[in-house]
Amino acid sequence: MDITIILSERGKELALVNLYKYKLIGERKKDNHLRWRCTNNKCSAIMFLGLDKRKVIETTVQHNHDKNSIEKIETQVLRENCKRKAEESISTRPLTIIRTELLNSSSTSNLNNQNVLILLFS
Ligand SMILES: [Zn+2]
Repeated sequence: MDITIILSERGKELALVNLYKYKLIGERKKDNHLRWRCTNNKCSAIMFLGLDKRKVIETTVQHNHDKNSIEKIETQVLRENCKRKAEESISTRPLTIIRTELLNSSSTSNLNNQNVLILLFS
């Protein structure tokens, strides 16, 4: 299973596994594995990752909802990247930043212009 660490809208770390998003809720004392919970409040799926966040050690409880679409995840990742770039370089115009991000990012291949427009006006 591939694990991707992304940032939430509040700048918190989220783990993306199989298009499900998990937030870090703590460490398990007996083996120091990191406990992550599904970001869907109505879902109680839990998984444990090793400390290096590269390996899923254990999952408990099945998700009770559909996984996220790739487009939705990519939009979030792109938005967070743009936000961070915008904070780093206040003098660059937002449109330039978004264009640069789109050109540089290989993970946004599924994004269409409509997504970008939504980003611009959200
Ligand atoms: Zn879930």
